[in-house]
Amino acid sequence: MRQTTSWIDGRPATTDSTTSGPRRSPVLDPSTGEQVAEVVLAGADDVDRAVASAVRAQVAWGELSLARRVNVLFSFRELLKGAADQLARLISEEHGKTVTDAAGEVARGLEVVEFACGLPQLLKGEFSGQAATGIDVHSVREPLGVVAGITPFNFPVMVPLWMSPVAIATGNAFVLKPSERDPSPSLLLAELWQRAGLPDGVFTVVQGDREAVDALLVHPDVAAVSFVGSTPVARHIHRVASEHGKRVQALGGAKNHGVVLADADLADAADQLTAAAYGAAGERCMALSVAVVEESVADQLITLLAERARAVRMGPGSDEGTDMGPVISAQAKERIEGLISSAEQEGATLVVDGRGARVPGHENGFFVGPTLVDGVTPQMRVYQEEVFGPVLDVVRVRDLAEAVELVNANPYGNGTAVFTSSGEAARTFRRSVKVGMVGINVPIPVPVAWHSFGGWKDSLFGESHVYGPESIRFYTRGKVTTERWPHRATAPAASFHFSGDSGR
Ligand code: NAD
Repeated sequence: MRQTTSWIDGRPATTDSTTSGPRRSPVLDPSTGEQVAEVVLAGADDVDRAVASAVRAQVAWGELSLARRVNVLFSFRELLKGAADQLARLISEEHGKTVTDAAGEVARGLEVVEFACGLPQLLKGEFSGQAATGIDVHSVREPLGVVAGITPFNFPVMVPLWMSPVAIATGNAFVLKPSERDPSPSLLLAELWQRAGLPDGVFTVVQGDREAVDALLVHPDVAAVSFVGSTPVARHIHRVASEHGKRVQALGGAKNHGVVLADADLADAADQLTAAAYGAAGERCMALSVAVVEESVADQLITLLAERARAVRMGPGSDEGTDMGPVISAQAKERIEGLISSAEQEGATLVVDGRGARVPGHENGFFVGPTLVDGVTPQMRVYQEEVFGPVLDVVRVRDLAEAVELVNANPYGNGTAVFTSSGEAARTFRRSVKVGMVGINVPIPVPVAWHSFGGWKDSLFGESHVYGPESIRFYTRGKVTTERWPHRATAPAASFHFSGDSGR
């Protein structure tokens, strides 16, 4: 069986060198319920060793020329492309999503690497010649030092790649704490960084759970923390890391509404909603989990959605014919099925019921079938909680205004979409929703890598979104130099008074 360890100072941390136990945790294949790996969980002293190695490595890395740093990024891009298939299979085995979907996740991560390859252009400073007589002013952005990334189970490659390429390109050392539920792809990433020529210690992995996270949050040598995960943990991370003087961006959970107006192409909207609700078994922070439908077309849309939900091919992620794999764990399955039951008890109608789903030959897999729930109201638990499973709620509304009110009253604000053929309605929706990422006839509006990704309200704590231009600022700090080379003949005399040079 695979043993997945931390990666410190350019090599796997041996079990003997983990002085904190070591504690271990099983990694399961969600399609079979069988153990495929064991992860060695880091303790606070392992985190200390990891950060110490990162501190040492960052000094030289931060001093290396932009051209040399970017060369490593270009090599990493090639190696990542070459390893895409291997990564996708590993993701699928530990996460359960289909190999094709996992390949898509690698491709979206690759985009961020490509963005970071443009660093020399992105990091150009600003210069004001002759800002005052004989004085030039220039601004540059410098690395923070050691930064940490704490990532969720649902994108074990893409989310680390939302953070690490930009953090590293801008001259920082990056310490990754991946999810303990699918930890192995992070080690393959570490090997690829090393083969690309990244000096040891600049990319470090500490495997672990809350113990490792808490050690990172209070570590005096960690300058910034990027977190992606559930809202309660995001809130905790933001509070504790901020209290310890760190820059923090903490992305949380979601409840994304897909609004279907009566003038939409209903067949297309049903196709898009089905894929966005059940793809990756609903375990995406941008999954559409609520269909908000204008009453006049609700029955028609539900008929289309039900046909499509029943046609979803459920099975192990490694089978080519599979549309939707299992959920991550037996506990997740139990929690999701409990929420479906609560909807039924609270008066909703289960149009398609995915409880008790079985896949022949995979009886111990953690499968939940596609579920379609009609007559959902905002008071029901299935609406209030993030289900993070293959469950699509249908809420009926009178019109666009009521749809917008519903979206805006929700505490989350990650993503949303509207399906319509009216430009005017789309524009009203786009301008009035209090949500960070909006799709117009696009169900999952994850921005391309040269825009930044982030939600509003309980979906993000801190002000910076991830990747794209905002990440360049997040991983650097400004330095402004005001410069004067006095010529005795022309320079103004030294003054005791604070003054400008505008002639006023
Ligand atoms: P999670 O919050 O349980 O775990 C995320 C990370 O935090 C993991 O590395 C985990 O080990 C660590 N962690 C868990 N509990 C902790 C605690 N009490 N203290 C400190 N660290 C802790 O999330 P998950 O189940 O791995 O991922 C699913 C969640 O992530 C969903 O809520 C989903 O919406 C969210 N998510 C959000 C985005 C986004 O961009 N907003 C993207 C992906 C996933």
